[in-house]
Amino acid sequence: MLNTTNEFTAEKAPCGKVEGGSRHREEDDDGLTFDDLTYSCGCRRIRHVFHDGSIRLKTIRHDGKVLADEHSADHEA
Ligand SMILES: [Zn+2]
Repeated sequence: MLNTTNEFTAEKAPCGKVEGGSRHREEDDDGLTFDDLTYSCGCRRIRHVFHDGSIRLKTIRHDGKVLADEHSADHEA
């Protein structure tokens, strides 16, 4: 099990600014992984891996616009 939040000082945010922020990570013993970055400007990057192995990637700009929203299972019929 893992559940951590770390601060970072200078990462390039989705809007293009270099911002500080925090990174939250969670893992359980069965393969679930959350890896979420929240920038001080309000931008967010989300990466979630689920128990079935599917992956969700989401990028949200600080004004709320969703820049990317991908789910690996979306490609299955
Ligand atoms: Zn931003």
